[in-house]
Amino acid sequence: MRPSLLNPLFAPVTSLPGVGPKQDKLLRYLLSRDETPRLVDLLLHLPSNVIDRRARPKVRDAVPGTVVTLEVTVDRHRPPPPRNSRAPYLVYASDDTGDVVLTFFRAKPGYVEKLLPMGAKRYVSGTLQMYDGTPQIVHPDRVLDEEAISKLSGIDPVYPLTEGLALGSLRRAIAQALQKLPGLPEWISPEVLRRCNFPPIAEALTRVHQPVELTDILPEKPYWSRLAFDELLAGQLALALIRAQLRRPAGVRNAGDGHLRNKIIDALPYALTPSQRNAAAAIADDLKQPVRMLRLLQGDVGSGKTVVALLAAAAVAEVGKQAALMAPTEILARQHIKTIAPLAERAGLRVTILTGREKGKERREIITRLAEGEIDLLVGTHALIQDDVIFKDLALAVVDEQHRFGVRERLALTSKGDAVDVLVLSATPIPRTLVLTYFGDMDISELREKPAGRQPIDTRAVPMSRIEEVMDGVGRALSAGKLVYWICPLVEESEAEGTEHLTNATKRFESLQKRFGDRVGLVHGQMKGTEKDRVMAQFAAHEIGLLVATTVVEVGVDVPAATIMVIENAERFGLAQLHQLRGRIGRGSEASTCLLLYSEPLGEMSKARLKVIRETTDGFRIAEEDLKLRGEGDVLGVRQSGLPGYRIARPEVHGQLITQARDEALRILKDDPKLKGERGEALRCLLYLYERDEAIPLIGAG
Ligand code: ADP
Ligand code: MG
Repeated sequence: MRPSLLNPLFAPVTSLPGVGPKQDKLLRYLLSRDETPRLVDLLLHLPSNVIDRRARPKVRDAVPGTVVTLEVTVDRHRPPPPRNSRAPYLVYASDDTGDVVLTFFRAKPGYVEKLLPMGAKRYVSGTLQMYDGTPQIVHPDRVLDEEAISKLSGIDPVYPLTEGLALGSLRRAIAQALQKLPGLPEWISPEVLRRCNFPPIAEALTRVHQPVELTDILPEKPYWSRLAFDELLAGQLALALIRAQLRRPAGVRNAGDGHLRNKIIDALPYALTPSQRNAAAAIADDLKQPVRMLRLLQGDVGSGKTVVALLAAAAVAEVGKQAALMAPTEILARQHIKTIAPLAERAGLRVTILTGREKGKERREIITRLAEGEIDLLVGTHALIQDDVIFKDLALAVVDEQHRFGVRERLALTSKGDAVDVLVLSATPIPRTLVLTYFGDMDISELREKPAGRQPIDTRAVPMSRIEEVMDGVGRALSAGKLVYWICPLVEESEAEGTEHLTNATKRFESLQKRFGDRVGLVHGQMKGTEKDRVMAQFAAHEIGLLVATTVVEVGVDVPAATIMVIENAERFGLAQLHQLRGRIGRGSEASTCLLLYSEPLGEMSKARLKVIRETTDGFRIAEEDLKLRGEGDVLGVRQSGLPGYRIARPEVHGQLITQARDEALRILKDDPKLKGERGEALRCLLYLYERDEAIPLIGAG
């Protein structure tokens, strides 16, 4: 139960005077809520800017185009003539240096008279304009008397809005919500408060919503940071609580005696690398623990993550349980099943694929077999998380290329079993801080070395002006029986300005076909799945030698015999993407070449990216450089929206606070695992405030 102390904050916004059904609808939209927002939602909607109204010049000295607050006496009213209600209502006012006209369009009857009574002294604030040589303020933002102005700092917050919602009415609603703020207990420890210089929560909220200094609303200042820390702490605490509670009943283990794993290892045409062996052992160990596994397996493209995932699935099958492997694309899911199926078969592991392509009877059969426990490992795409996909006993969820999935999808998969162990595969090392916000504490295994026998890739940057030479080179390679990828950025001519010169994969395919005939194939994202597979299979079988492709081949595609890659408009690709693309070659025992074709002139960022990619094939180093060039938020594509699931914390500003919140959460659970003490009570408030209370029922009443 929510502490009653918080009730005022959970009152609906419509309980505030002046907030009716129309505002309710707008606020739902603004605050992304399905139901009527509560006061707490308003309070956590932070300003994006401020307006400085502290300039108080005399009328004569006021600078046109600036925001000023004038102290004036109301001299005269001029309502619109009765026949012309479109004309503005004018109020003439003055100080001892000059006159100013205050203009109101479509004012409600009586409104202006009440706001600016004849002969009264008022403080009028707004943007000053010159109109016919007379200073004028159209719709002053604020009209205040002596008493009202003495209570304001002269700095007004500006909030992100939505169409139809007026800044003034949002500001009023938030100010009213602030007045309802109850006295809240402190949930942050004194050490952290001191170290981070955090103010109490009430002060933090007050200062961001009613700034005293222009900088009070900045995310890096202590007021906003305190709120970000609260939000992060709530998130970390909830993750840690859930994790601590998800213990398996005594005696339940998700890994068996190794008989299936040994069969797979015996069937491998190669030896596992030491880091593959270590990762597999760490996973098997996790699966035997009484707490659920949450492990990230990071390894460069081509480092051999799939077989490690298969071994994990086999361990689970050894005790008669099921595993799922979810990949972000159809191609990738098929690639996995192709690698996995022959190995699984020899070990007697029953493996099936389920994507959007399996339909009707075929799909129904898969679903029935799954529910009856006749499938040990189900490989697939998003299709795995549909409601009617029900496992008999799902014990392990493997999620490939995690950053392409949202938190919701991951949860949807893990909720198909009890305390499901989670293994996340990633080819782009995810920054530690972001791992923390997604998963809380997560164990990490890394595949650092490449499988034995891999040859280095020779990477060169070549200007577009030399494309003829490149084509000649490709021709020679084809004649020598080599397999070549030719990557283009877009499928269809984009309408967007400035991108017309980007080579269109279809056009490039046509021009290469003219030159090399039917040795050329094409795959792109808009082709049907079966069609894509057919072309990929032809390429793998050497029936075509040159494959023109968009970034559909970026993830996971595995044709080890391919040794040459041309990337057209390489300057357009991000570092991680270039690295992923290039990872499609250099997978066999032959030396490989990657040509980065670029259009001139090159911008600074593009130049820097191409330099990094030429210098190294080490994915971990590339990820580090990428971070430096782009900043953390962008790595997962979250820059625009902030951290998914977080309203206040910003990865680029509050990255440091994430680890601190994690440490704090772990300390808290060590001292008071059931949140029973006085501070525990306070922390329960925090969890409710930020809607991270889902774990509270697990630990019982305080
Ligand atoms: P990724 O980590 O990019 O998912 P994959 O699992 O697709 O890598 O493996 C890439 C290729 O390397 C596959 O063809 C796989 O069969 C092969 N491979 C995996 N492990 C080894 C190994 N220890 N020795 C040699 N080849 C390996
Ligand atoms: Mg892979």
